[in-house]
Parts: sequence; C-alpha cells; structure tokens
Amino acid sequence: MPKTAAKKSPAKTTVPVVQEAPLAFDTLCIQGGYDPKFGEPRILPIIQSTTYKYDDIDHVNRIMTLQAFGHKYSRTSNPTVAGFEGRLNLLEGGAATVATASGQAANLLAISNIVKSGDHILAATQLYGGTFTLLNATLKKFGVNTTFFDADAAARDIEKLVRPETRLIFGETIGNPGLSILDFDKLARIAQKHGIPFIVDNSLATAWLCQPFKHGANIVTYSATKYIDGHATSVGGAVIDGGNFDWANGKFPDFTTPDPTYNGVAYTEKFPQSPFLIKARAQFLRDFGGCLAPLNAFLFNLGLETLHLRMPRHGENALALAKFLARHPKVAWLNYPGLDATGKKRIARYFRHKNGSGMLTFGVKGDLDTVRRFVKKLKVAALVVHVADARTGVLHPASSTHAQMNEAQLRAAGISPDMIRVTVGLEDINDLITDFDQALAA
Ligand SMILES: *Cc1c(COP(=O)(O)O)cnc(C)c1O
Repeated sequence: MPKTAAKKSPAKTTVPVVQEAPLAFDTLCIQGGYDPKFGEPRILPIIQSTTYKYDDIDHVNRIMTLQAFGHKYSRTSNPTVAGFEGRLNLLEGGAATVATASGQAANLLAISNIVKSGDHILAATQLYGGTFTLLNATLKKFGVNTTFFDADAAARDIEKLVRPETRLIFGETIGNPGLSILDFDKLARIAQKHGIPFIVDNSLATAWLCQPFKHGANIVTYSATKYIDGHATSVGGAVIDGGNFDWANGKFPDFTTPDPTYNGVAYTEKFPQSPFLIKARAQFLRDFGGCLAPLNAFLFNLGLETLHLRMPRHGENALALAKFLARHPKVAWLNYPGLDATGKKRIARYFRHKNGSGMLTFGVKGDLDTVRRFVKKLKVAALVVHVADARTGVLHPASSTHAQMNEAQLRAAGISPDMIRVTVGLEDINDLITDFDQALAA
C-alpha cells in the first residue's frame, strides 16, 4: 500500500516526523491497495494459484481458526483479489472489503450475512431487476420476506413498514433504470432509529461520484461488472463494510454469539473493526463460494486506474445527449438525474462532483414497432443488455431486463412500455448525437 494517512507511531524517534497528507482520490485509483517492495512487480500480479505453502502446522491451524490472517485457499482469499479489494476499500473509505464473483453474489453475500429465515427486509422499489427478483422471489423461498417502498415516499410512510423482525434497509445510489438518486439522509435516519443497517448498491455512481458511508450507509455493494470494469470484460462484485454499525445492539446474535464452525469465535468481540466483513468472508464465502477469480480482479484493478478519468466523460456525454434528446420532436419524455430539480439537489448534496453519471432514459414517440425500428437503425450505439461500458448501448427494459415484472411492478420501478435505457459511453459526443438523430428520423 502506498503511503496513506495510516498512523505510524512516531514516538520512538527524536527526529520530527512530517505527517504525510492522505493521498487524493485520483492517486488512490492508480496506486491504492498495492505497494510493491524492492524488486517486486510494479503492476499488481495475477496470482493464478488456488493454494499456498506453509512451514508448520500450527500456523495453518491459526489461519483456519481465524487466530491469524493469511491466504489458505483462493475461495476465501487470494493476493490479486486482495489487491483489488484494498484499492476499492480505500476509494470508498471502508473498514474492509470482500470481492465476489458478481454483483448478484455481492448483494446475496451482504444480505445473507445479516438475515435468516423469519427476518424481514425493507427495499426501495427502484432496483436493478436481478436484485428485485432475489428479494421478491428467491429469498422468499428461504423464509426472508421483503417489503418494497417508493424511495421518494415520505419518511413516516416508509417508517410505518418497519417491523420488529426487519433487519436491513436496501437501496441503490442511482436506481436502475428509474435513475432516481437515493435520499440518503431520510433512509439513514430510519435505519439508525431502528438499529438496523442501511445497505447501498453503489454500482452506477461509483466512489468517484458518491461515497455512501459519508451519508449514513453501513454497507456498500457493487457490481464491479459496470463502471469499475468499464470495458465490459468481466463479471464481478464487492461488499464493503463501513465499520460504522453496532452489530452488538441485540438484534444480530449471529455476530455476538460463538460461531461453532470456527472454534467459538464471536465476531464482534474478536474483530471489533469489521465483524461484518470477517463473518461474511469466513462463513459465507466459505459456504456459498461466490469468490472472484484472480484474472477478473486484475482487470477490475486496471479499470479502477482510469475510473477518475472515465466517470467525468460518461457524465458529460450523457448530459449533452440528454439535452439533445429533450429537444427532439420524436422524443416523448427524457429522464437524466443531472437535469431535473430533485436530481440536481441530491447531486449537490450527496455527490462529489456535479455529474449525473452515464445513464439516461427516454421515451420514443410511437408504438412498439417504432421502438423496434429506432433500435435497429442505430449504428454507433448497439443493442446490449449490459450497462456502464466505454461503448454506448441501448436497451428496452420492459421487454428484457424487467420482462419478469407485471404492469404494476413495472410502473412502481419507473419503467414505461416506451422506455429506452441508454448507457452513454466515451465516444465523441457529436457522433453519438448524429447517430441518435438519424435513428429517430427513420
Ligand atoms: C448489474 C447490476 C447488478 C448485478 O451485478 P452483476 O455483476 O451483473 O451480477 C446489481 N446491481 C446493480 C445496480 C447493477 O447495475
């Protein structure tokens, strides 16, 4: 790790110690999480090894029983994956981070580390389709029920939904695909008042735009597949622990009582800095196995090295395309977080930059056939399911990512039948505008 604000004890020297300034976000994007020593590779190496060698059985025993940290098997940790985890952790300002096989695996890991059968979840309706089905269908089969709320409903109406067995509140920084920016203050207050953690999926904002721990979130999740990768090469995710939640408040006995699968370790007692993350890694990465592959960690780490250069351009291109589309006679409506009043207010309050990220949605005037023709005519933009790529892509959510929803659920998630979702890439903006213009004219 490069020299960050880490406090070394200066007491033993008589030479005045110059306090090193913490490194800036942009420097951490490039150098955070990996600090090679003399003669070691300058670039985070791909350690394509499942296995690690030891000299004595006592050391292995200490690792296996959580008495010492160390790699034992790449399902629970790997040096390349650890490099990526360390960098992301610095960028988010977290206590600890675990990388996962996908964004879905990240949300599953974060949630299952907290709830068990009989527990209840409160989640914003404005969610990624896969997260919605995880909560609304799959977790239900395991006895975990979710109540969905409109993220823009009044605080007292959301609070009414909290039950004695509610164990977490879940939302996305930028709801997908409604693109509403989360009202962090409101949800953080409800979570705090009821002693439950507030989980935020930060995939579409990234730490460059928003650091949810500064706004009351306790756990941040990622689909690293999106802007962290940035080039549509790999699927992966991460869970970051803010280290700012009291797991010993009485509602979460799994954190405070001995874990028989680790010789009776009690996580809050043994790991006060980050009981959440250690438990997630030790229990659920071990048992569910949704770990990140070293090669993908290498690619995500490379992606982070340009995050601070790519994110501004995604936002600038999206804003320019949004302004063009808003004036276009064939466009029925347009939604971009940087353009409406609430979006602007929340960007000013919660985002690190005046930038609405790279996603926009709009309605094409006409029927489903018009939508079909428009999509077919695009040349620079392509029809893709993926988002947050260097290349511009479009999608028709009602017939694809959200095809499993009924009409009422679609409406609640902010999706209309004419909606086109655009993931605005890093191309020349004039080429994008020309492309959308000719496709709309067709
Ligand atoms: C894509 C996405 C996910 C799921 O991530 P995968 O890496 O595809 O599993 C979760 N949340 C959000 C906001 C996403 O955009």
